[in-house]
Amino acid sequence: MASDKTPKYDLLVIGGGPAGMAGARFARRRDKTMSIAMIRAQEHSITPCSMPYALSGTIRVDDFRKSDEKMLADVGIDLVVDEASAIDTAAHRVVTGKSGDFGYGNLLVATGAEPIVPPIPGAKLPGVFTVRNYEDIIAIRKEMGTAQNAVIVGGGYIGLEVAMAFQQVGIEAHVIEMLPFCLGNVCSERIARHALDELTAGGIDVHAGEMAQAIVGDSHVTGVQINDHVVPADIVVLAIGVRGQTSLARDAGIEVGKFGIRVTDRMATSAEGVWAAGDCVQHRSFITGEPGVGRLATTAVVQAKTAAINMTGGDRLFPGYVLASVTRLFENSYGATGLNRDQAAKAGIEFIEGECEGSTVYAGYPNGGTVNYSLLFDGETRVLIGAECTGDEEVAARIDMLTMAVMQQMTMDQVACLQYPAHPLHTDIPGHPPIVTAAEDAMRKAGPL
Ligand SMILES: Cc1cc2nc3c(=O)[nH]c(=O)nc-3n(C[C@H](O)[C@H](O)[C@H](O)COP(=O)(O)OP(=O)(O)OC[C@H]3O[C@@H](n4cnc5c(N)ncnc54)[C@H](O)[C@@H]3O)c2cc1C
Repeated sequence: MASDKTPKYDLLVIGGGPAGMAGARFARRRDKTMSIAMIRAQEHSITPCSMPYALSGTIRVDDFRKSDEKMLADVGIDLVVDEASAIDTAAHRVVTGKSGDFGYGNLLVATGAEPIVPPIPGAKLPGVFTVRNYEDIIAIRKEMGTAQNAVIVGGGYIGLEVAMAFQQVGIEAHVIEMLPFCLGNVCSERIARHALDELTAGGIDVHAGEMAQAIVGDSHVTGVQINDHVVPADIVVLAIGVRGQTSLARDAGIEVGKFGIRVTDRMATSAEGVWAAGDCVQHRSFITGEPGVGRLATTAVVQAKTAAINMTGGDRLFPGYVLASVTRLFENSYGATGLNRDQAAKAGIEFIEGECEGSTVYAGYPNGGTVNYSLLFDGETRVLIGAECTGDEEVAARIDMLTMAVMQQMTMDQVACLQYPAHPLHTDIPGHPPIVTAAEDAMRKAGPL
């Protein structure tokens, strides 16, 4: 039971990742007087997206770890460095390991996700890592000092960014991916096959269509077994996906679905006064309405701000996951938003694809590159349901714009009416605007209205 001495906050946040941080800070911005505390397991916060670049030394390790205690104190957010071990939803109270109990008016659960470790022999051997927090980066960097071969199990964007980091510092990088191509969590197969070619050309040894069957070694990892041979490794990184950390909520009787803590569009959980956001949450696809997960920092931030607005008297609804993402390999960036071809086919949507290859400068100008677009429209409604974009530059900005078009449910006819800028040093020629051209390609295939 909460005693009179139990500190009570108007808002208590569990977790200091992108969701916890955005939730606490946005609530503070909207309400200068409410008392706010954040309970998080670590002293410092990190930007998880930067971890591969801290491995390669592109950014200094100290620069991606943020000492934000003062920043939080300056805006009146108390930091409790501890683990929350239980939530009592009836008493509006959170129990921690060493810091005692805390009462709450509103509670934001932002406990994130943890890497999945496959149930294969050797997964716990020294030299085998996952990538989720600062300590992982320190430990991996230490091993990198003497390593010659690294195996990354999982060829999604995190696995590939880690492989690129190893390769960049002269460690031979091998990627084991069970699909016949990499980047399947970002792109459709057709585009992902280009990524595979780019990785191979860049010197990364990709074992596509292979399963890691065991991690071998006695006192330290020495390799990974696939089919009939062992790929040598002094370091193994497991990057096969993450699982929402939902046990705290589940144990408190809060409803948890197949993918995470169930929330309403206002980000409210089934318990009164308890909200949730980020990787620990299950919501639904913006396009298909099917339950699912976001597992992107950008989604976590939008969800947390939605919760913060609603708990401070506002009204905002989270519309569902669009999943706009982008990653970079050697020469090209790969971006996607909404559904790709494979996902649309899986969802049973008959789609029409409009394609275009464009240039980033007018023909004949120096330093230009190409950008490839694939725009996917629902064959029945002609509404944009997703897009992919690859190229050596501008990909993130184009995915931004296409995400807006997906979220506005624009039809191919409306996308084709886009008014766009043109300039010799910045775009393709005025008569060949790639996004419009791709929409027109879809219109041709769809036939007249
Ligand atoms: C290597 C890597 C690269 C990535 N790159 C990108 C990218 O480029 N773009 C992008 O959008 N996303 C990226 N992501 C995904 C992104 O990092 C996550 O979607 C995001 O961190 C989710 O934020 P969150 O706050 O929900 O969870 P987390 O970041 O996981 O934060 C949850 C925090 O809560 C703490 N916690 C959990 N339980 C408790 C407890 N009981 N008590 C106290 N504290 C607790 C955890 O220790 C953790 O610090 C990347 C992820 C990784 C691992």
